[in-house]
Amino acid sequence: MKLTVLGSGTLVSGPERATTGFALEIGGQPIVVDLGFGCFKNMQRAGIDFSKVNNLFFTHFEHPDHVNDLSAFIFARKGLIDLGYGSPVQVNIFGGSGFKGFVETLLDAYPSLKKLPFKLTASDLEPYGSKKFGEFSLKTKPMSHAPSSIGMRFEAGRKSVVFSGDTEANENLVELSKGADLLVLECNYGKEPPKFSHLNAEIAGGIAARAKAKAILLSHLLPETEKQDLKKIAAKKFSGKILLAKDLLEVNV
Ligand SMILES: [Zn+2]
Ligand SMILES: [Zn+2]
Repeated sequence: MKLTVLGSGTLVSGPERATTGFALEIGGQPIVVDLGFGCFKNMQRAGIDFSKVNNLFFTHFEHPDHVNDLSAFIFARKGLIDLGYGSPVQVNIFGGSGFKGFVETLLDAYPSLKKLPFKLTASDLEPYGSKKFGEFSLKTKPMSHAPSSIGMRFEAGRKSVVFSGDTEANENLVELSKGADLLVLECNYGKEPPKFSHLNAEIAGGIAARAKAKAILLSHLLPETEKQDLKKIAAKKFSGKILLAKDLLEVNV
């Protein structure tokens, strides 16, 4: 698998970061996990052909920094077909509880998205779920952040990548992350105590240590947070490999 960071920021991102999103290439096929504002542009900057992204997953939809570019993505897929460049391949999007209703409302808000020239399915994933796709499987567990928040574990062959999404520390995250080859953790804060149901770098390191993850990628960074030595703070608790996210970073798993 290959992970590409589409957005390493949060609701206040600064000039160098899009909000939050990742692409995960599995067997040559890209999927997307979250697509906040700026991420759709970064997908194209990373050379990922968005007309081949047919499965998108959202850790929560309540906060625009994770979902804002979904409308841009759908509009562009529609545009490709309308302009005669694209073919009407089905697109499947998945989120936590209430996601299907959110997508219906979103499409309803844009007159241009009411009728699409391709099939779009939106589905709510089970909070404690397990689902098989062609080349990979997905496990989900509820996170502690917003009502629809779910953590996601993707497995392909013998490799695993886990996404915390936004969350505060919780046992589900430790369980979901057990032995993960790469654990993508939100790191809204550095040393300071987290507010609004988020993690800081030290707590993130502690979760990775308890889960015995092999490597972590700290992402979802506020401008104030990234002024701190986040790797050093996380390393107080975690002795594995620690990576710091920046937009367009690629990580082979
Ligand atoms: Zn967020
Ligand atoms: Zn959030």
